[in-house]
Amino acid sequence: MLIVITGPSGAGKTTLIRRLLEKHPELKFSVSHTTRPPRPGEIDGVDYHFVSEAEFTRLLKKGFFVEWAVVHGFHYGTSKNEFKKSRFSDLILDIDVQGAKQIRNMNQKVKEALFIFILPPSRACLEKRLMARGDLSMAEFELRLRKASQEIKSYRLFDYFVINDDLDRALDQIEAIILAEHLRLSKMKKQIKEILNSFRMK
Ligand code: ADP
Ligand code: 5GP
Repeated sequence: MLIVITGPSGAGKTTLIRRLLEKHPELKFSVSHTTRPPRPGEIDGVDYHFVSEAEFTRLLKKGFFVEWAVVHGFHYGTSKNEFKKSRFSDLILDIDVQGAKQIRNMNQKVKEALFIFILPPSRACLEKRLMARGDLSMAEFELRLRKASQEIKSYRLFDYFVINDDLDRALDQIEAIILAEHLRLSKMKKQIKEILNSFRMK
């Protein structure tokens, strides 16, 4: 199953996904390509595949990406190779709202996709969190807030909503959503058929 985690910058996607992956090593993370320079502590091939603009454009022309977007002035994209990992295990995507919309629109091909929208509790809280990160200029900060208000307006396109107020509670809610999705008929059919067969044997 493809698990798309989206929402405005600063809502807490990266923090929540890190915690989720620590707790559930069986989940795989889709490592995006980006032209943004690495931040301290980020590892090439683990957090992102860091590439130049020229390399990103070359890959884009080759049809390498299933979705891509320009986010805060840099290119970001999910490659077909990463996407394929979802055949073998649940795959977590941390992508912006533009990218999530692209995947939602190709949903016929991606039947098993779950969209979780992460929201900050309020604008004031988002401002505080973006400020606390301390890595943004005033112009970048303003841009993210404007973009956040646009992105939140698209909320109807997504399946589930997690208000990231208390981190532990938000994490519990994401786990509950994933578990519930696995208990749907489409994913339980095989096991139910086995149970039915065991009844037929007698
Ligand atoms: P995103 O990946 O959505 O841009 P981050 O995970 O980088 O967001 O989180 C933005 C900032 O908010 C970080 O400094 C992070 O530590 C902080 N943060 C995330 N979730 C919470 C929370 N529930 N309570 C307080 N601070 C949080
Ligand atoms: P950051 O630079 O803070 O890691 O990420 C900035 C934004 O880009 C976040 O909202 C993140 O979800 C988004 N992002 C990361 N990878 C991708 C991707 O492959 N595609 C798209 N569309 N957005 C991405």
